[in-house]
Amino acid sequence: MDKQEEKTNQLLNPDEMFDALITKIKETCPGMDLGRIRAAYDMARLAHSGQLRKDGSPYVTHCVAAADITVDMGLDEDSIVSALLHDVIEDTNLTHDDIARQFGEAVADIVEGVTKLTRVQYTSKEDEQMENLRKMLMAMAKDIRVILIKIADRLHNMRTMAYQSADKQRSKSLETMEIYAPIAHRLGMQRAKWELEDLSLQYLDPAGYKEITTSLEAKMGDLERFMASMKEKIQTRLDAEGVKATIYCRIKHVYSIYRKMYAQKLDINGIFDLCAFRVIVDTIPDCYNVLGIIHDMFKPVPGRFKDYISTPKPNMYQSVHTTVIGSEGIPFEVQIRTWEMHYTAEYGIAAHWKYKMGSGATAVREGDEDKFAWVRRLLESQQESDAQDFFHNLKIDMFADEVFVFSPKGDVINLPAGATPIDFAYSIHSDVGNHMVGARVNGRIVTYDHVLQNGDIVEIRTSKNAPGPSRDWLNVAKSGSARTKIKQWYKKERREENVIRGREMLEDELKHNGLTLDDAQDEETIAPILKRLSFGTIEDLYAAIGYGGVTATRVANRIRDELRTKPDRKTALDKVSEAAERRENNAKKTGKPVHGILVEGLSNCLVKFSRCCTPVPGDDIVGFITRGQGVSIHRRDCTNCAQLMNQPENQGRWVGVSWAENITDSYVTTVTIASKDRSGLVMDIATVLNSLNAKVRSLTSRDTGAGLAVSTITLEVKSSGELRYIMGRLASIPGVSSVVRNGNK
Ligand code: MN
Repeated sequence: MDKQEEKTNQLLNPDEMFDALITKIKETCPGMDLGRIRAAYDMARLAHSGQLRKDGSPYVTHCVAAADITVDMGLDEDSIVSALLHDVIEDTNLTHDDIARQFGEAVADIVEGVTKLTRVQYTSKEDEQMENLRKMLMAMAKDIRVILIKIADRLHNMRTMAYQSADKQRSKSLETMEIYAPIAHRLGMQRAKWELEDLSLQYLDPAGYKEITTSLEAKMGDLERFMASMKEKIQTRLDAEGVKATIYCRIKHVYSIYRKMYAQKLDINGIFDLCAFRVIVDTIPDCYNVLGIIHDMFKPVPGRFKDYISTPKPNMYQSVHTTVIGSEGIPFEVQIRTWEMHYTAEYGIAAHWKYKMGSGATAVREGDEDKFAWVRRLLESQQESDAQDFFHNLKIDMFADEVFVFSPKGDVINLPAGATPIDFAYSIHSDVGNHMVGARVNGRIVTYDHVLQNGDIVEIRTSKNAPGPSRDWLNVAKSGSARTKIKQWYKKERREENVIRGREMLEDELKHNGLTLDDAQDEETIAPILKRLSFGTIEDLYAAIGYGGVTATRVANRIRDELRTKPDRKTALDKVSEAAERRENNAKKTGKPVHGILVEGLSNCLVKFSRCCTPVPGDDIVGFITRGQGVSIHRRDCTNCAQLMNQPENQGRWVGVSWAENITDSYVTTVTIASKDRSGLVMDIATVLNSLNAKVRSLTSRDTGAGLAVSTITLEVKSSGELRYIMGRLASIPGVSSVVRNGNK
């Protein structure tokens, strides 16, 4: 028989498979709605029609096979329906809504959940990444049934891996060994775990696998005879003792032998306990009773007795294990457990749906912190309710305070729940965070405060010319480490800015206390404060306030206290009034500031800001006396202004103006962006402005033909410095060719 013929002969008939499945459901899961399950099959068959598996069989055979595994696992009706439909969102035109309409939200959500897991790409193969990947999958699943169906799906795919290319066999097997087998183990599903491991090993180390199976086959006759005689012996004795027990024996699974061979550097003849016996009884006292009998019959191997009944494994596994030496000198392991423990061991948490909770046989010790705390909590709260509801309420919350996302390279990054692109960037490297100019999640541009979800692929755009983190990031970052790194940056990179900002903050704070900066800068007052707070100079102190190393309130309080304790307190207060007087006099010379503008020689005159160049504090300005509308304020570099100045009739209408000190108001100004006309541009601009907390009044954009666009932003700023900063950020948006203020050439 040639290979082609062999494959043709193996073509599967989905209808026959489904009929067999229905028969199995009738036998093992009474009370299920068979019509609904058949409808799911019909939907899947229709949706996948024309699609083939690698073996040439209709694709839907895979769906039926996966559903069959969920029946073996003992899952509920929704799980079986979902398993039949598990690939329709990924591989056909059907949507979540299509499924929801016919089978309800629960099924649609499960299928969508399985789809999400299917789409996760495992590009990273580093060990430390695997644990994060496993956690991410668990956290993504939300409903435990999603994971269980994914395991069923993977199990069937591994069973039929022979038809895949060698590359795919290897990569899928590695993924199964590293991700899915450990998850099955964590969920206590021994049976699925073993099969996944053995199937993976077949492709990961074909020679090693072959070596073990060949030697096992050679020994099979002996092993079987040995097992039969031991079983008979034990059964007879237990019957005589009046203990009702069922005995199973088996050869250990290949991968467990393989691991032992490698760990102990032995060949298979050196592995003595190839066989395992299981004695299953009704009650816990019977377990210990049987243990006593076994130890009476055979010589126990010291150090091999383990009591997982009194101390269950984290995955809820319970049994007592012992290794004894048989009459022929061959050691073998005996596991003793109740039926309930047996189901739990075979099917893990899936067993709890099928096998209702008993009289506390699986009760776990209090305070035993482990990975299954969440399952236990649910089990405890659900003992009274119908087992049917069990899975509906079983949500995975074990990683509720963490979120797992991918870097573009496929590394899994673990962040606190609620984390943003800022946290992500700083978790990669401070340089990435400090040079961030944009972020994409799953290919779409997002704002910096976008909350990351499990499985998101996060991409950070950086630029050499990035202006560095904004202070608002401190409020947006969720992780302490990101905040620390942002503060460090401010401390290091922005000393000048920090000094100015710190000075302003302290001044504000002092104002609340009825004091001025002059009081703070007084050498007598400040020297002891600097010493106590360990700052060398007052600039250092301002810088520290600026980057948040010390609060302005704290310093202001110190200054106030210092002034109070001064013996010449009166003098200090006098200084306050002197300073006030000085300012008053200054103001008189030029008149009171109007809108933050001092006009030379004129007081209280009408002032308005020109629309052509929209000056803001810090700009070099000049005043133009208009007819009847007071003084119009222009930037000295305003093009309009230059024209006015050239006209002879305007001679003598110019007047010197300056910005008042301590301006706290915001000023409206306009900038124009020239760029390529590309989709998402306005979104990018809005994102940048939003991330800078800019007060935007309007943002318009229009294409000017030839693939170019012009955007106009009207916004409020406090200073020309702030405006320059914003313009710098806008200029780094891809496709932007220039950012100019209105009134410029
Ligand atoms: Mn599948």
